[in-house]
Amino acid sequence: MTPVSYHRVGSAADAVRLGALDGHRLLGGGTNLVDLMRKGVEQPAVLVDVSGLSSLIEEAADGSLVIGAAARNAAVAAHPLVRTRYPMLARAILGGASAQIRNMATVGGNLLQRTRCLYFADAAGSKCNKRVPGSGCDAQGGFTRYHAILGASPSCIATHPSDMAVALAALDARLHLASAAGVRILPLLDFHQLPGDRPDIETILAPGEVIVAIELPLSDVAARSTYRKVRDRASYAFALVSVAAGLALEGDRIVNVRIALGGVAAKPWRALRAEAVLRGGPANAEAFARAAEAEFADAAPLPSNAFKVPLATRTLAAVLTELSGERA
Ligand SMILES: Cc1cc2nc3c(=O)[nH]c(=O)nc-3n(C[C@H](O)[C@H](O)[C@H](O)COP(=O)(O)OP(=O)(O)OC[C@H]3O[C@@H](n4cnc5c(N)ncnc54)[C@H](O)[C@@H]3O)c2cc1C
Ligand code: SF4
Repeated sequence: MTPVSYHRVGSAADAVRLGALDGHRLLGGGTNLVDLMRKGVEQPAVLVDVSGLSSLIEEAADGSLVIGAAARNAAVAAHPLVRTRYPMLARAILGGASAQIRNMATVGGNLLQRTRCLYFADAAGSKCNKRVPGSGCDAQGGFTRYHAILGASPSCIATHPSDMAVALAALDARLHLASAAGVRILPLLDFHQLPGDRPDIETILAPGEVIVAIELPLSDVAARSTYRKVRDRASYAFALVSVAAGLALEGDRIVNVRIALGGVAAKPWRALRAEAVLRGGPANAEAFARAAEAEFADAAPLPSNAFKVPLATRTLAAVLTELSGERA
C-alpha cells in the first residue's frame, strides 16, 4: 500500500472542500475502501475521514426518518423506529457482513461500496472495464455465479453488493447530497447507474459531492415488509439473490406494494413490472407467481448463473406469500 495522509473533518463543508481535491477520497468506516487500497485497486493520496459527520437518526415533522450518512449500519438496524416502521431495512442490514463490520460501516459508505466481482478486485492480473475503462472484461466467459441477470451490458455484468441499498430502493428513500452549490435531494432509485458502455460510472454523484443523509418517507407498505437473502453460506456472504418487499392490504386486495431485488443487477433493482401486476389485485399465490414471472421475462442470464432466474422467481413469490400470510 502506498503512503497516504489522513484528515478527519467535522463539517459537511470541509468534507466537500477537501473531498473535491485531486487524489483525495472520502473515508467512512473504511471497510471497503481500505480493503481496495490494500489490493491496489484504489490509490488515494489523502483520506478525508467523514465518519464524524452527522450520525443522528431523527424523525422529521412530516413523519419521515432522516438518517445521517455517518450512522453506523449496526446503529440503524437497532434503532426502534427503523425496526418497527421499516422492518425490511433492519433485516437487510442484519443480513449483510458481520457484526464487527456493521459496527464500523457507515450508511454513506455502504451505498458506495464497490462490486465484489473477482476480476475487479484483481488489479494485478485481470482486465476490467470498471477498474480501467476500455480494458475489457475478464468476467465474460469466466466465473459468473454472482453476476447480473438484468440490466447488464457487454461491457460489464457485475452486480451491486449492498443489501441495505435494496431495502432503501423499495422504500423510495431519498438521498441528501452536499456540494459547494448546496444540498440536493434525489431518489435513491436514480443514484446508481446501469453499466451501459461506461461501467466505471456507477452513480450520479458529482466530483466532490458528499452523501450527508438518507431520508425514509412515511410509507403504507413499510410496516408489513421484510427482506430475504439467498446466499451460498448462512452468514457472511453476499447475495445470490435477495428480495425486499412490502405490502399494503385491504381485505384480500393489494392496495399498494413495493419490491426491490438484490444480486441481480448493477444497481438495486426496483421490480416495477411485478408491482404493476400486483397493485389493485388479489393477494394470492397465482398473482404472486404471475408477478414474479413478469419481472424476469427479460432476464438474460449466463450459463453459470441461469439458476438465478428460477431462484429469484421463487424467492419473490415466497416473500409475497409470507407477507400476505402475516395478515391473518
Ligand atoms: C468481509 C466482508 C463482507 C461483507 N458482506 C456484506 C454483505 O453481505 N452485504 C453488504 O451489503 N455489505 C457487505 N459488506 C460491505 C460492507 O457493508 C461495506 O464495506 C460497508 O458498508 C462500506 O461502508 P464504509 O463506511 O466502511 O465505507 P468505506 O469503505 O469507508 O467507503 C466506501 C466508499 O464510499 C465512499 N464514501 C464513504 N462515505 C461517503 C459519503 N458520506 N459520501 C460520499 N462518499 C462516501 C468512499 O470514498 C468509498 O469510495 C462486506 C464487507 C466485508 C469486508
Ligand atoms: S463484470 Fe464488470 S467489474 Fe467484473 S471484470 Fe467485467 S467489467 Fe470488471
